[in-house]
Amino acid sequence: MKRILVTGGAGFIGSHLCERLLREGNEVVCLDNYFTGNKQNIVTLLKHPYFELVRHDITNPYMAEVDEIYNLACPASPVHYQYNSIKTIKTSVMGAINTLGLAKRVKAKILQASTSEIYGDPEIHPQPESYWGNVNTIGPRSCYDEGKRCAETLFMDYHKQNGVDVKIIRIFNTYGPNMNPHDGRVVSNFIVQALKGEDITIFGKGTQTRSFQYVDDLVEGMIRMMNTPKGVTGPVNIGNQNEFTMLELANAILDLTGSSSKLCFKSLPKDDPKQRQPDISKAGEILNGWKPTVQLEDGLTKTIQYFEKVLMQKTLAF
Ligand code: NAD
Ligand code: UDP
Repeated sequence: MKRILVTGGAGFIGSHLCERLLREGNEVVCLDNYFTGNKQNIVTLLKHPYFELVRHDITNPYMAEVDEIYNLACPASPVHYQYNSIKTIKTSVMGAINTLGLAKRVKAKILQASTSEIYGDPEIHPQPESYWGNVNTIGPRSCYDEGKRCAETLFMDYHKQNGVDVKIIRIFNTYGPNMNPHDGRVVSNFIVQALKGEDITIFGKGTQTRSFQYVDDLVEGMIRMMNTPKGVTGPVNIGNQNEFTMLELANAILDLTGSSSKLCFKSLPKDDPKQRQPDISKAGEILNGWKPTVQLEDGLTKTIQYFEKVLMQKTLAF
């Protein structure tokens, strides 16, 4: 049995990862400060004898004897990471230093949840890991993008200088149950708006693209990456290659919900990337043929069912 620390474990992705790691017979320590995460996401895990919940802010050091660390603590939605941009960059940079320090001390393997945002508004399409990106250092997204870029640098430097067994994955837009309904990201926004019969807020003309990955495919990729031999550091893109415009996404959600919500067009946020699609050939090579298996329609159907339940239960304050 491995003891595994998941920082940001009460968040959207973290909660799915904790559940899967417990199911595979591991002991899980879930650390979170509940900035964007929610106890509701992990409430069913609380009765598990090998699940431990720790309220802690990762900008402060944390000590525990663990075998593996998944470092996910960081708000991921533009609305939330821009709310306190200084805190966001501290979470990425100091969080990386604190978790890497722990990994070094207890000789744990450590995986960083990096992001496609490190490519910024990409000029190369699709994006391979060798692309260095096109990122504004002083824009509204910089606290997140540059924080994550610096974290990647720290991970590689701890590996080169101290021999820490690091793994870096670059996650592309992921969706699924346990997303926060107030999160502000496009999939949750559109579904909640459609279910409530409110206008669907399309930013810009809706011609910008994203490639959406269902959370189960990501968790599979994360675990496969953690299990690669020492020295396989990445970075590795983990995402779905099927690319959609925001208008296509909105129409798919309207069809699946049967909603009569209207589309309404809002201004495009500054530095919003125009296109995004991962090149996942490297993931296929080093993660035993990993590739996404869940089609958008199937993933959206499960996510819609989740939000229907949440809206009905009103467990979260709408
Ligand atoms: P999320 O906001 O649902 O989860 C983040 C979790 O981290 C939350 O539970 C939050 O409370 C916690 N957290 C934030 N700051 C913290 C701090 N200082 N100390 C302790 N806990 C803190 O977001 P998510 O979508 O689950 O993302 C998880 C990770 O994956 C993030 O690092 C994010 O950057 C990365 N990622 C996500 C996506 C995506 O599409 N979902 C894409 C790329 C990268
Ligand atoms: N978006 C939108 N309406 C919304 C929320 C987002 O049109 O209500 C757009 C946003 O401008 C971006 C895309 O959807 O082009 C994805 O946004 P999200 O915040 O989900 O992720 P990111 O921009 O970080 O990829």
